[in-house]
Amino acid sequence: MNYDPDNIFAKILRNEIPCDRLYEDEYALAFNDISPQAPIHALVIPKGQYLSFADFSANASADEIAGFFRVAQRVADDLGLPKDGFRVISNIGRNGHQEVMHFHLHLLGGCDLGSMLKRGLG
Ligand code: 5GP
Repeated sequence: MNYDPDNIFAKILRNEIPCDRLYEDEYALAFNDISPQAPIHALVIPKGQYLSFADFSANASADEIAGFFRVAQRVADDLGLPKDGFRVISNIGRNGHQEVMHFHLHLLGGCDLGSMLKRGLG
């Protein structure tokens, strides 16, 4: 699959669609999820055009990877997430139910999030 420059997060990066911005620098943009699944639900996306965690990990430069993950932790700190704990999720592809094909991390917290997956192995 090729990167689609018209995906919704690419449009947010180009300021063609508004977002509730939390932080931005040369490596990443963080904003609140439009449909929060927890009291705190932020998204962190890299500035570069990467489809998924797999694409980003394999193809981004060391500077992009370090810059991106430091932004993710900085935003978690700014939101107060480390105090009581939180969850970082990246959905990938069909089985992972990835909806937006621009790599992103979900930062979730602000309450007890329960066990990791609703669906077990059964
Ligand atoms: P995925 O399933 O790809 O991991 O998650 C995509 C996330 O993007 C979903 O949680 C969804 O609510 C969020 N989302 C989709 N469109 C928009 C949008 O236009 N603005 C914001 N802020 N979030 C969006």
